[in-house]
Amino acid sequence: MKQVLTAVVMLVGLIRPALAAAQGADTVLINGKVLTVDREFSTREAIAIRDGRIVAVGTTADVRKLAGAQTRIIDLQGKTVIPGLIDSHLHAIRAALSFSTEVNWIGVRSLTEAVARIRDAARTMKPGAWLIVAGGWNVQQFKENRRPTQAELVAAAPNNPVYVQLGYGWAMLTPAAMKALNITTEADLPQGGRFEKDAGGKPTGAVTGAQGAIIALFDRLPRPTFDQQIQGTKLFFRELNRLALTGVVDPGGNNLSPDDYQALFKVWRDGQMTMRVAYSLCGQTPGMEFEELKSLTALLPIGFGDDMLRFNGLGERITAAMNNNDRPSESDKAQYYQIAKWAADRGMALTMHWGRDASVDQLLTIFERVNQEVPISSLRWSIAHLNDASVKSLERMKALGVGWTVQDAMYFGGDQLVQQSGPEAARRVPPVVTGGKIGVAIGAGTDAHRVASYNPFTALQWFLDGKTVAGNAIRGPEETPSRADALRLYTRGSAWFSRDEQKRGSLEVGKLADLAVLSRDYMTVPVDQIGGLESVLTMVAGKIVYAAAPYKE
Ligand SMILES: [Zn+2]
Repeated sequence: MKQVLTAVVMLVGLIRPALAAAQGADTVLINGKVLTVDREFSTREAIAIRDGRIVAVGTTADVRKLAGAQTRIIDLQGKTVIPGLIDSHLHAIRAALSFSTEVNWIGVRSLTEAVARIRDAARTMKPGAWLIVAGGWNVQQFKENRRPTQAELVAAAPNNPVYVQLGYGWAMLTPAAMKALNITTEADLPQGGRFEKDAGGKPTGAVTGAQGAIIALFDRLPRPTFDQQIQGTKLFFRELNRLALTGVVDPGGNNLSPDDYQALFKVWRDGQMTMRVAYSLCGQTPGMEFEELKSLTALLPIGFGDDMLRFNGLGERITAAMNNNDRPSESDKAQYYQIAKWAADRGMALTMHWGRDASVDQLLTIFERVNQEVPISSLRWSIAHLNDASVKSLERMKALGVGWTVQDAMYFGGDQLVQQSGPEAARRVPPVVTGGKIGVAIGAGTDAHRVASYNPFTALQWFLDGKTVAGNAIRGPEETPSRADALRLYTRGSAWFSRDEQKRGSLEVGKLADLAVLSRDYMTVPVDQIGGLESVLTMVAGKIVYAAAPYKE
């Protein structure tokens, strides 16, 4: 019996290549510059795809042989192809919900243009509709280098309530917006919020204060309808496809309830996903997190789902008490340990938001304690952010098998970091070259869309030139990756965090055919133009999900 089996296995092995040639590929892409991002970072000319997977990578002549009568042949005319990019820390599910109803300031270079977008939206949206800018912009991106005034917003949209949020610390509301939310005095604001006042003590129209106050204020805004959420989800994924993204690892976030996942689930059920989403779940109610997480995951084992939508564990917030807390109490840590140990027992991944290296020992000590009881090295735990990670912390992470998701936070925040910590400290932020040498698994991303732009090319350019949005180069060459390494971080590097590095993240035989044809060559275009790249053709599992000229037909 065993011999027969062996013979069958051998026969299948022999027949397979022959069948491949006989059946032909569904699609071949030829005459290109294919950056495979395989181990050697090889460049090839052509790719063949069948049934959503890559069946050959090689010369145009070789790959052409796999084309049959039914094969779609795409002539790349020398264009560069990359594996579909993967953002390892993008709040995509939340961003998508409101994408069809929000005004977007991402990448806008002047305040004049930003305000013009409000004016345009006031014309195209229903009279009286809310105009909401939920974040993703920064003062330094505007050549005017300042925030909008209330008067400017009123002039742009006199008949609509307007709400413009900056990060998690400031939000400008027009009088119509204040009225709609029944805010007349500071007592009407969420706890911890207050009116911003100008030099003369007059309210500017903006609300400032604690992060929790701004989150609670945002929660008072009307929510998009379910249909708008579905529409927003599809549109947002297309927008990401336009920027060569084919996958995200979603870390949950503030203002997210189970209801907020239903639009995504509907798009997935309808077979209309154009992005692969691996999502983790956060605790939301302070003190109740363990009960919440147990209940949310009782019938949700790690890895549940399919290649388009998969449950990916806990995080990025496990407990409110340990969130952005440099000095957690013993009981905060005990509560955190309890959840982390429980997650490890169930083989769950866990990703944790942490800001500063000075306090990350608090977290790593808990991870090490859990690891002594239940080894976590195979569970794909990770720390997000930690922009000033020290060698010591990176070594502890490596020893635990804990990965590191790195975002372009310093693109917006770098100038402030230089002011606070000095240019020497800023030179090594974030130390991705050191992290790579130590052998920590590193993924790239943005943390969009409240605190950053989701554009991966903005992040890739920033990895390479270290320049903030204001144009100041703050990172030193010793922590600047090569173009190849930066692309690795954004592809196979990010794939690690959802256990997908064997399935995607590079263009190799057997892997999923997720790829993007770029408008210009990432490897040779001047560095300061990388931020302007986009895709002209994006495929997920060999299906075209985005096409621009010359492929739009
Ligand atoms: Zn975070």
